[in-house]
Amino acid sequence: MDVIVLGAGIIGVTTAWYLRQNGHNVRVLERREQAGLETSFANAGQVSAHLADPWANPTTLRSVFTWLFRDDTPLVFRPRADIHQWSWLFKFLRECPASRYNRNLVHLANLGVYSRTALQALRAQTGIEYDERQRGILLFFTEEDKLRGAAAAAKRLAASGLRREVLDADQCLEIEPSLQSVRDALKGGIYSRYDETGDAFKFTQRLAALARDAGVRFDYGNDIRRVDVGGGAIRAIDVQKADGRTERYTADQYVLCLGPASARMARKIGVDLDIYPVKGYSVTMPVREGALAVSMGLTDAAQKMAFSRLGDRVRATAIAEIAGYDRSIDQKRCRQIVANAQRLFPDALDTGRAEYWAGLRPMTPSNLPIIGRNGRYRNLLINTGHGTIGWTQSCGSARAIADILEGRRPDCDYPFIGEMR
Ligand SMILES: Cc1cc2nc3c(=O)[nH]c(=O)nc-3n(C[C@H](O)[C@H](O)[C@H](O)COP(=O)(O)OP(=O)(O)OC[C@H]3O[C@@H](n4cnc5c(N)ncnc54)[C@H](O)[C@@H]3O)c2cc1C
Repeated sequence: MDVIVLGAGIIGVTTAWYLRQNGHNVRVLERREQAGLETSFANAGQVSAHLADPWANPTTLRSVFTWLFRDDTPLVFRPRADIHQWSWLFKFLRECPASRYNRNLVHLANLGVYSRTALQALRAQTGIEYDERQRGILLFFTEEDKLRGAAAAAKRLAASGLRREVLDADQCLEIEPSLQSVRDALKGGIYSRYDETGDAFKFTQRLAALARDAGVRFDYGNDIRRVDVGGGAIRAIDVQKADGRTERYTADQYVLCLGPASARMARKIGVDLDIYPVKGYSVTMPVREGALAVSMGLTDAAQKMAFSRLGDRVRATAIAEIAGYDRSIDQKRCRQIVANAQRLFPDALDTGRAEYWAGLRPMTPSNLPIIGRNGRYRNLLINTGHGTIGWTQSCGSARAIADILEGRRPDCDYPFIGEMR
């Protein structure tokens, strides 16, 4: 079949890869000049199947009203005159109670584990390298009561297949010696030894190159302006080229992978996707030679910050701003991230060469990405809304789409949308 994939972020590129592996003729349409230049560019780098909690949870519900209207909290709400923003927030709050949270958490973990297995197989098949490390992720605590809560949850979640080990402070220092700087305050941590880290942008670019070698056609500089529909199907995609020319592409099947731009594009053809952008920041800093800095995936529970070691760099990320589609970089926010990283790894980071970045997470209220066939158009598949953990879920979501296109139910207990036919 001829398939057009819309968007070349990590989700579009992995989708193209798995479709090509199944023998389809695949074309990817992307407005930027390369793959992975938007949300997939500089994320936290954590491939986190076992430690990824939905952001909509009972704790968020308790703190939300203090968080939402202040400027110095991990979650910031900047109200806009946008009905979609308010409706998304309302639905997000509806996902917070324990019953919804538990259900969402298990679905996320199922997809995460399925995805990590797919990533491992892809790595073995292609030898792809992307500053990956298989040393696990450690969520560390400096507050006793928070650690106790997380330890109780870890025990409870073991029954649902989530593998989280509770460590005391000494055990944390043993696996991550760079935590020495907080030794006195450190209470312990939750360790997911089967999780991984790696540079999502390198992965996206290198997989795009492999896919191109395997026959996928990447058409960059194509801004999708219109999806032409009729008779219950997608008829064509109209794009505008960098030089202003327009062109029309057709295929048998179409897969929507436009990240934060997905909801607006889908709305134009009457498809409602509950996705809203949630902005986050990252700072990437070189590690000074011989210095002691994070060596794995690390999350500071108190500061709500995530760190990854990516080769000779450290990536530090934080913050969630529900503030519309603005991607501008607030220098103050980034300096705050640098200060926290320096406190944790004193003298280890070359902050003079820090690279600041901001990206928009394509978030659904439940944190669950929307994957499957759209009911309204018989040749439209959706693979988007990966929010906080699109890197983690990329290979699994893409493999699932490739199965669904063949009419097979993916081997993963997850609420895929639409019928399998
Ligand atoms: C601060 C931060 C930290 C994160 N940390 C992690 C992490 O540790 N682990 C993890 O698993 N995930 C993490 N994520 C989430 C992850 O980065 C995203 O879920 C993922 O990158 C989304 O990929 P995507 O392909 O859907 O979107 P994108 O990468 O944005 O790709 C969408 C593509 O569509 C293209 N496009 C849009 N509109 C058009 C158009 N009209 N015409 C043509 N092309 C178009 C865009 O140019 C873009 O290339 C983080 C995100 C942020 C912001």
